[in-house]
Amino acid sequence: MPHTLLEHARAARGFMPDDEGLVLRDLATRRAPHGPLLEVGSYCGKSALYLADGVRESGAPAVVFAVDHHRGSEENQAGWEHHDPTLVDADLGVMDTMPVFRRTIHDAGVEDVVVAIVGQSTTVSAHWRTPLSLLFIDGGHAEVHAQNDYSGWAPWVMPEGLLLIHDVFPDPADGGRPPYEVYLRALAGGAFEEIDVRGSLRVLRRTSGEAGSPVG
Ligand code: SAH
Ligand code: MG
Repeated sequence: MPHTLLEHARAARGFMPDDEGLVLRDLATRRAPHGPLLEVGSYCGKSALYLADGVRESGAPAVVFAVDHHRGSEENQAGWEHHDPTLVDADLGVMDTMPVFRRTIHDAGVEDVVVAIVGQSTTVSAHWRTPLSLLFIDGGHAEVHAQNDYSGWAPWVMPEGLLLIHDVFPDPADGGRPPYEVYLRALAGGAFEEIDVRGSLRVLRRTSGEAGSPVG
């Protein structure tokens, strides 16, 4: 049985290598005093726990908003590479990661820190108005979803706030292109500069503009 929050993060189901998760945790600790954090793409809650561990460590009263429709990405659907049949709603025959996510957050003891928002990323971002101290993009990896996540959420990163993008693979042999293209777009837009790299994780800092203003 996991005991510490970090052990819960490590034991949780999902797609977050520990070394990259520890970067999430450390950056969450650094940024939590400045405002809320938000992740797009929570799946069963693994990355949310690394972020929550960082928030707890900071002592700040910050929260992690966890946006996901909980119906899985393309690659999570039946017949695809990252499908887990135990995550299918037996009555509906569709993916539902919400119950496992909720149980994971409960068992780790961070229901006060991690706040689930269940819906399409574009629907939620269209109504969002709150500056973010840290944004972690790890949602759908199809071109349209990856680009929409950047367009909808990156403007809400506050000055000096961080934009983290997962599954960035400069070499096409290592994985799909859209997160890498979003990363290039962020650098080309002029509002962000790269400050760190760990595995497929890219860490960018907002260097110009106000929260809510365009990022290119
Ligand atoms: N961060 C997770 C992995 C996320 S997998 C971890 O640490 O394990 C990608 C998630 O993005 C899936 O759960 C999927 O349901 C979600 N997703 C994909 N497209 C989405 C969209 N358009 N809106 C909301 N969530 C989406
Ligand atoms: Mg990922």
